[in-house]
Amino acid sequence: MNEPTSVSVLTGAGISTDSGIPDYRGPQGVWTKDPQAAANADISRYVADPEVRRASWRARLGHPVWDARPNDAHRALVDLEHAGLLRALITQNIDELHQRAGSAPEKVIELHGTVRRAECLSCDLITPMGEVLARVSAGEDDPPCPRCGGIQKSNTISFGQNLKSEVLAAALDAARSCDLFVAVGTSLTVHPAAGLCGEAIDFGARLVIVNAEPTPYDSFADQVINEPIGQALPALVKELIDAAG
Ligand code: ZN
Repeated sequence: MNEPTSVSVLTGAGISTDSGIPDYRGPQGVWTKDPQAAANADISRYVADPEVRRASWRARLGHPVWDARPNDAHRALVDLEHAGLLRALITQNIDELHQRAGSAPEKVIELHGTVRRAECLSCDLITPMGEVLARVSAGEDDPPCPRCGGIQKSNTISFGQNLKSEVLAAALDAARSCDLFVAVGTSLTVHPAAGLCGEAIDFGARLVIVNAEPTPYDSFADQVINEPIGQALPALVKELIDAAG
């Protein structure tokens, strides 16, 4: 391919499975294996049912994210940034593994928030998740907000919650202002994230998809790579950097 100078990347759960974090909709996905977990992830049930909240805090305490380390695919995107080619790194993931790999925080657009912070649903207080989980470990099964006593949850977008408008605006801007859009490890079935591919194409970018399974956008892509992400993405990034010379 001829040399792209501005690359926006969208990443989904598939980039973090090599780091030990299961995806949601793949064959071994969290929602696939436990549809009830998906139902419990709805914001209205979380607010209405203390038992759903207690189960959620136990799940956060045992979340694989706490032991996860970035992998070669995360590191490849750091290389892309250091080569001056990265316009923005949009992610559906809540694990902060891009930042831990070394991606500049200002380059990372977290569509679905982060599990590494907690938020109060009443007063919007944000606190480090570690502080709240320490309270769970100490025996509080549904720790209330330390400021107002309100219900807390992870600082992530649950089913039934809209994406934050300024975050979505930044993602749209990144999709519309690149000359190559790369979607990695995402099923491209969840909107508005999936629609970013269409936005990028409409505004003149080429599209490359790196994913184990077929996606609804494959027929619009200039290149579809179905190989394992841990090898395919570093190879693609090397190719882009070499082409940019
Ligand atoms: Zn509060």
